[in-house]
Amino acid sequence: MIPFNRPPYMGNEIRYIQDAINNKKICGDGAFTQKCHQWMEDKTNAAKAFLTTSCTQALEMAALLAGIKAGDEIIMPSYTFVSTANAFVLRGAKIIFVDIRPDTMNIDEALIEPAITKKTKAIVPVHYAGVSCEMDTIMELAAQYDLFVIEDAAQGVMAAYKGQDLGSIGDFGCYSFHETKNYSMGEGGAILLRGDQYVEQAEIVREKGTNRSNFLRGQVDKYTWVSQGSSYLPSDINAAYLWPQLEQADEINCDRLKSWTHYHEALKPLEDAGKLELPVIPAECEHNAHMFYIKVKDIDVRGRLINFLKENEIAAVFHYVPLHTSPAGKKFGAFSGEDQYTTKESERLLRLPMYYGLQNWEIDEVCARIYDFFG
Ligand SMILES: *Cc1c(COP(=O)(O)O)cnc(C)c1O
Repeated sequence: MIPFNRPPYMGNEIRYIQDAINNKKICGDGAFTQKCHQWMEDKTNAAKAFLTTSCTQALEMAALLAGIKAGDEIIMPSYTFVSTANAFVLRGAKIIFVDIRPDTMNIDEALIEPAITKKTKAIVPVHYAGVSCEMDTIMELAAQYDLFVIEDAAQGVMAAYKGQDLGSIGDFGCYSFHETKNYSMGEGGAILLRGDQYVEQAEIVREKGTNRSNFLRGQVDKYTWVSQGSSYLPSDINAAYLWPQLEQADEINCDRLKSWTHYHEALKPLEDAGKLELPVIPAECEHNAHMFYIKVKDIDVRGRLINFLKENEIAAVFHYVPLHTSPAGKKFGAFSGEDQYTTKESERLLRLPMYYGLQNWEIDEVCARIYDFFG
């Protein structure tokens, strides 16, 4: 069986976890957490990075930091994971869904301005497959209308737009270190703060609404409840699992990109023959091979291809039933303009096996079966 995903394992995980235990500090913000923070700050130039227990919780932190409240409107694509929307719905906001571009599956930047109203508070670009949204346009709109930009960069670790790391372009950026992402601590994530004006507030929100961080630095002589917050710190044991991957982030990234290119070259003749479409990477985007997907004619062909691959012991999957068509999406959101591509393109997309350590012979096997399918 060729699995869809295999979580990375670099070799030093057990040793580092043992170190964390020996440090007698397995709760949040221990030595390995600090290493991960430093790595993210050095890599992205963000003013501050904090590990969280998931990208979902990083998004929830961002919603709290942006002061999102009942009646606010938040603009995002409908083709995304539920957490992108839930984080803001939890604060009472209404979600305004905007159509995607068929080439990248990202929010269509040209359709954002018509969706802006007096109630709009934030734009949430989702960098699908680690390929950046058109951030210059989004940042200009945000400046013009005084909106927050909160990047859902769950899939965007080690990817960039015009040389700037995803997650560090908007006011806040959210990473995922879930098992299915490029870098994993089982369950985990991070929030990046571009500037330092929200750092203290972020420390408070992340530490259950207390000023414990000030206390630990000796800035106040007792710590107390000062604001809204929750428990967003992962255990240092989880950070110790993530650390070997960040130490070897380039190795993981190169390996994935190599696999991505191998797929692309192998399947190009099928694209030229009009049987399927391959992903598009705009020139200003440096992607991270989070995903390799193909697009077939329609949902019917996709269903048959998934079954065919499964019979040949290959796991291929699709995801994201557009949120505006879901029960909660209908209740908490509305689609701005016309759904020209969101539903149509999402029904054609199929994700092929992709993980660190995927072998070329496995890719060749997957592609050979796709060739068989198309005769
Ligand atoms: C995976 C993912 C999330 C959620 O990440 P968790 O770490 O599992 O909470 C959110 N948004 C997008 C686009 C994702 O791919």
